[in-house]
Amino acid sequence: MDSSLQIGKAMGIPVRLHWTLLVVILYIAWAFATFSEPILGRTYGFGGIEPASVRWIYSFVFAVALFICVALHELGHSYVARKSGIEIRSITLYFFGGVASMEAIPRNPRLELRMAFAGPAVSGVVGLLCVLLSQPSAIVQGDHPLAILLWTLGIMNLLLMVFNLLPAFPMDGGRVLRAWFATRMPYVKATQSAAEVGRMFAILLGILGLFSFNFILLFIAFFIYIGASEEEKATAISVSLEGIKVKNIMSPEVHTVHSNMTLRALQDLMFREKHRGYPVVEDGSLQGIVTLTDLQKIADEKRDSVEVGAVMTRKLYLIGPEEEASAAMRMMNEMGVRRLPVIDAGRLVGIVSREDLVRAIELSSGRNF
Ligand SMILES: [Zn+2]
Repeated sequence: MDSSLQIGKAMGIPVRLHWTLLVVILYIAWAFATFSEPILGRTYGFGGIEPASVRWIYSFVFAVALFICVALHELGHSYVARKSGIEIRSITLYFFGGVASMEAIPRNPRLELRMAFAGPAVSGVVGLLCVLLSQPSAIVQGDHPLAILLWTLGIMNLLLMVFNLLPAFPMDGGRVLRAWFATRMPYVKATQSAAEVGRMFAILLGILGLFSFNFILLFIAFFIYIGASEEEKATAISVSLEGIKVKNIMSPEVHTVHSNMTLRALQDLMFREKHRGYPVVEDGSLQGIVTLTDLQKIADEKRDSVEVGAVMTRKLYLIGPEEEASAAMRMMNEMGVRRLPVIDAGRLVGIVSREDLVRAIELSSGRNF
């Protein structure tokens, strides 16, 4: 589940690295070491640097620097968010870029606009700075590897800015577009309209990719199409859960089990009560949670001897009864769990499951926004 590694902190925010990125850094290093092209009369790419050892060192430094620039882009978003009082949990760098994980963004189009612009703005400034520093000077000669490094990095940052300003989810430009729509119409409608523009854009890109046999373009088109639909769905869900608290939808009568109960007894209990998971409590304190999935890991013939304590999940994600239902939804999605124990002043007061959330969404989706 946890496939990312914390590499450090910036502005107090943990910056994490997804494992896929390690492969991509090597790929980028390789890709940029094997070509060299003039752009605006300057060398772009490290293919022409001799000897090979120096070429590879520069390519590798470039690949790492590029992802530091992606992190700076995300920190740009985070900085504006933080200044407006939004908590940032972490920044994770993936193979296609970065994702800043933050608490719900208040539906304030002007704030969203500023937040969405902040990332591309950072990329733009970094890009221009690199381009300026790469210009021939007393320190850097025209064809010095360092000049090539700065020029290549500058171009990539400017591309990063332009790419992120494409008016489509999940790019920043999609958020800018939504914020702009949201000043004129309700939020859900604004999201739908922005998603619609994103999908049209994706189809155009896809056609272009198809006719030019450009698979990267096809991949981006696909990515944008999915992103637009996901954003639309997520917004509709968070809006329909608006104002609903965990305590309104949780199951308050929590049946708990003891850690020395056998799995056979647990299986019978699940069958009888049609619950898929139980908190495990000992002497009044919560020890873990045991679910149908945990039970299924143990072969049927062993269930008479294995106890709940041996298979339960001890790592718990808890939520309070006064928290928003949408916060429970986010936590479940982020942590990949289906139910959360509800704790009030250290006491277990209920359990909220994905099914509870789905029911709440279904019941409230008839409301008017
Ligand atoms: Zn961004």
